[in-house]
Amino acid sequence: MNKLFYAFWRMGLRADNDLVIHNSSTSGKILRGIFLAALFLFGLSLAHAEIDNFRVRGGGQSEQEKTQNTVSDIKAEIKFGQNVAARILARNPMIENQSLIEYVNLVGNAVALHAGRPELKFHFTVIQSKHVNAYAAPGGYIFITKPAIDIMQDESELAGALAHEVAHVTRKHIVKALKIKGSEISAQSGITRFLGGVGDAGRVAFSQTVNKAVEMLFQDGLSQEDELDADKTGTIYLATTGYDPTALRRYLRRVKASKRDRLKVISSTHPPFNLRINKLAEQLKSMGVSKSRLPTVRARFLKRAR
Ligand SMILES: [Zn+2]
Repeated sequence: MNKLFYAFWRMGLRADNDLVIHNSSTSGKILRGIFLAALFLFGLSLAHAEIDNFRVRGGGQSEQEKTQNTVSDIKAEIKFGQNVAARILARNPMIENQSLIEYVNLVGNAVALHAGRPELKFHFTVIQSKHVNAYAAPGGYIFITKPAIDIMQDESELAGALAHEVAHVTRKHIVKALKIKGSEISAQSGITRFLGGVGDAGRVAFSQTVNKAVEMLFQDGLSQEDELDADKTGTIYLATTGYDPTALRRYLRRVKASKRDRLKVISSTHPPFNLRINKLAEQLKSMGVSKSRLPTVRARFLKRAR
């Protein structure tokens, strides 16, 4: 049943078909908001369970990268990511539109299947904000703002924006920048002690590191190198998922053309748009796909995201 569902989803990529996914009622808004946030953080939603069955094992990572992911490192990455995600949701609550969130999850998970981190379960959601932006917490927690979705014109652009964030997770940009490891190597960071449930000092160190990650996402940004790497890797994910690989570049052009007050956070935390757009143009040219005719899936996007 699930395999069939996903096969239809992939088919829709090509045929621009519509999928029928249930809508939820609008009663009990606040309670439901808390409930949905909990579902998001702890991964119990139906959509995630369905997608989970399609996770493939192996592939996408070098042997060196695989050996670097010990079980305790992955546990630390996920636990850390959950805490960062909770802080993001405290600042920017999820939108009250479960149908749109489900749609974003389906698109995001289609991309994440090609990202080579089968040990992670990816979670996507749409958050309230004045700004056009998206955020990725370690472990697979990905957020996109409603204004970002509002400027997109088709599903491939949504996939492109999510692919950039998936790449931040799979390439472990925050994990590496903050040296989050589950092993004794990073005992000084306190993460190991926190995971073991020992001591207030460990908890404080853990909380401080979570704060640093939130500051990175909302103020300081990652390195320019990591951002350009996420654009490049995200564009490869787009192509391997079957979407038009020029979509991330198209989306960035729309972001650049947005009202300035909507771009405060993204401008201060990411490299200049022209640099990103030009780098992607070079990459698309070298991939031989500058004038791609691969699917953009506009009709389904307009039906599900407007
Ligand atoms: Zn980024």
